[in-house]
Amino acid sequence: MKQLWQILFSCGRSPAKRSLSTRPIKRQRNAQNLIQAAIIALAIGTLMLVTSPGRALQVQVVPNNPQLGDTLSVTVESDTPGNTAPAVSLGKRTYSAFPIGNNRFRALLPTTPLDKPGVLQLRISDGNETRLLGLPLRGRKFPTQSIWLPPGKDQDLSDFEFDRVDAFKKLVTPEKFWSGLFLKPNNGPITTIYGVRRYYNGKFAHDYYHRGVDYAGAYGSPIIAPAAGRVALVGQESKGFVIHGNCIGIDHGQGVESIFLHLSRILVKNGEFVKAGQVIGALGGTGAATGPHLHWGLYVNGQAVDPSPWRNKRFE
Ligand SMILES: [Zn+2]
Repeated sequence: MKQLWQILFSCGRSPAKRSLSTRPIKRQRNAQNLIQAAIIALAIGTLMLVTSPGRALQVQVVPNNPQLGDTLSVTVESDTPGNTAPAVSLGKRTYSAFPIGNNRFRALLPTTPLDKPGVLQLRISDGNETRLLGLPLRGRKFPTQSIWLPPGKDQDLSDFEFDRVDAFKKLVTPEKFWSGLFLKPNNGPITTIYGVRRYYNGKFAHDYYHRGVDYAGAYGSPIIAPAAGRVALVGQESKGFVIHGNCIGIDHGQGVESIFLHLSRILVKNGEFVKAGQVIGALGGTGAATGPHLHWGLYVNGQAVDPSPWRNKRFE
């Protein structure tokens, strides 16, 4: 837009500079007037193209009143020939959008308790048109826990374990393996919800939030896959997974992954495809767990989101 006004502005000034030449002034002016008119017409045409509701990119964001921890489903409809995936950006990050049929694409954007409530700036571009959207993100009060650790008893974090888990969380597989609502992975009651914040030795931990949901099922009770996917992580306590314990990661596709921690048994192999509802392991207390429970973390494009909306809303 800035360039457009610069062009219009410089066009208005140029005739004065050229009026030194004598005879062909009139013809020159006529020609310049024509060029000016053409440029203005072009500019107005461009403006109409950008603002015309019929041609604009159609963007839909669900939920329309999100709160911290929600997953934003951004659907973009574009009638641009070529039908390439639009770029969907939030802040400095651009997220992959995948085709869902009928010239429509969908990107899933994570929000977390570490985000600032306020207006999110979404930018959607199909290379032809760009739309900017302001979307209000509501704050949310999360419960807090106080943890007291004896001095010098900080856990020794193994790079191997965390590098492996980080790589898993970053997977963005183009295929979509899940469909419909996610199932609860264990029948036990929920003991710690998503997003709980912590104080360590009286100090608020700014980077910490509970990155999942804890189920306090019986030791050895079955853990099922909440949705279909490919097993992309199998970690064993005996092979260095001292924090996560025995764990399984399922890639549901398109940047969505589940991780299950502290298992007593693992019943699947890396690379194996699992169905929704399939038993994948048994609940335990391996790794850094104070007692037997299942921790289920749901990651969207690398960030731990609240799994609960995925249990009662469809992300198709
Ligand atoms: Zn947990």
